[in-house]
Amino acid sequence: MLMEANVAPTESPSRVVIVGAGFAGLYAAKELAGKGVQVTVIDRTNHHLFQPLLYQVATAGLSPADIAQPVRHILKEAKNIEVVMAEVDRIDVTAKEVHTTTGAVFSYDYLIVAAGARHSYFGHDEWERFAPGLKNLEDALELRRRILNAFEAAEMANSDEDRRAALTFVVVGGGPTGVEMAGAVAELARRTLADDFRRIDPRAARILLVEGVARILPAFRENLSRSAQKQLESMGIEVRTGAMVTDVTNRGVTVDGEFIPTWAVVWAAGNAASPIGKSLGAETDRAGRVVVNDDLSVPGHPEIFAIGDMACFKYQTGQPLPALSPVAMQMGRHAAKNILAHLQGQKPARFRYFDKGTMATIGRNRAIADLKFIRFGGYLAWLSWLFVHLIFLVGLRNRLLVLFQWTWAYFTFGRGARLIYGTFKPQIDRAREKEEKAASRS
Ligand SMILES: Cc1cc2nc3c(=O)[nH]c(=O)nc-3n(C[C@H](O)[C@H](O)[C@H](O)COP(=O)(O)OP(=O)(O)OC[C@H]3O[C@@H](n4cnc5c(N)ncnc54)[C@H](O)[C@@H]3O)c2cc1C
Repeated sequence: MLMEANVAPTESPSRVVIVGAGFAGLYAAKELAGKGVQVTVIDRTNHHLFQPLLYQVATAGLSPADIAQPVRHILKEAKNIEVVMAEVDRIDVTAKEVHTTTGAVFSYDYLIVAAGARHSYFGHDEWERFAPGLKNLEDALELRRRILNAFEAAEMANSDEDRRAALTFVVVGGGPTGVEMAGAVAELARRTLADDFRRIDPRAARILLVEGVARILPAFRENLSRSAQKQLESMGIEVRTGAMVTDVTNRGVTVDGEFIPTWAVVWAAGNAASPIGKSLGAETDRAGRVVVNDDLSVPGHPEIFAIGDMACFKYQTGQPLPALSPVAMQMGRHAAKNILAHLQGQKPARFRYFDKGTMATIGRNRAIADLKFIRFGGYLAWLSWLFVHLIFLVGLRNRLLVLFQWTWAYFTFGRGARLIYGTFKPQIDRAREKEEKAASRS
């Protein structure tokens, strides 16, 4: 209870605070459900979000409620768990307290920090205004607004130049999110919206995927990357690898010195771990992830665990484990088990990630899959991707809803969530630009 905040820990049961109800935090909480500990789960949103399907919300294929569930509802059967909606701003490891922006303070005996990551603009935070990333529902709805708005702006454009800019979509970052976004925008333009406009042909949209390193999907084997690139190109997407974005404004993107006019840019190029990690006082890596011990605890603090996208765990391959949902889920379960073991006077166990393989979808009938014992691309990979994502989506209702929407979309090419909330907002606010110019002259 919030009213219990600021109260010193009681003798028994031990108090476990979990910061974040993403994959890592939620799986830790589920492992502690019904066990002899008092758990408080704190998240700044009221829902657990299935991030792997966010791109479908951003491209109008699914609605927010299809891929999110209230955390309270998911954990309602676990009477030893309370859920608090609050934003954590720092952790006092000496006093063993979690501080929130509302002023409420939560004492703990054990702490699991699982606050995930945001995007990184590599020192150019000013680009975020023009190139939003995709991490939460707000981001997805903003991208959906910009993408749908761009088609509306193209329909109303006064010049060919403006029309071309409005119908140019640039996705920065050729990892799984960038590839999924580029593929979904292409389908939106070439199939879903193809007959909906009178002055423009949405099929003429130009979609560019820009990647800084030599190939897209660098975490996959080279032949799968090549296959993914070919599949993207067959959808009419321009893929530029080894290309650096050097500027982003409200008028366009500069790639390797070339200015590309566009009004819709998607940023999918880099992660920065939650800043909460820094308040633990432990070592962090370049991406801000907490460098954890082999049992996921924070060095010098056997009572604190950092997990999921916030953790840098190098004991398995020598490299940090990738930011993937199975890594986060397995870390969540493991951290919870180590707390229970510690309470029983046992030594915490070393974490080991069981890698069942990775997949990335590119679009309708197109995907790649590396299941360790077999690697393949195309239709079968796409079916496997659909199946795995349905299985891991939280809640039967959401699974059924998503299955229905996918089946409907498969046969009709329709995307049911093509709503732009509010009135039309131009990508380029010419009135404001004029005012700013006048102000700078005077
Ligand atoms: C667009 C996208 C697509 C992806 N696709 C795939 C995929 O296909 N396959 C795959 O395996 N992985 C995928 N991932 C990666 C995967 O989703 C992450 O690795 C996973 O979500 C990490 O889990 P987490 O619990 O560490 O963080 P998150 O799931 O990000 O959860 C962090 C939680 O902490 C909360 N939080 C953050 N800061 C605070 C604060 N200050 N106070 C309180 N609460 C806070 C957030 O609200 C959130 O609920 C994708 C990620 C994205 C963004």
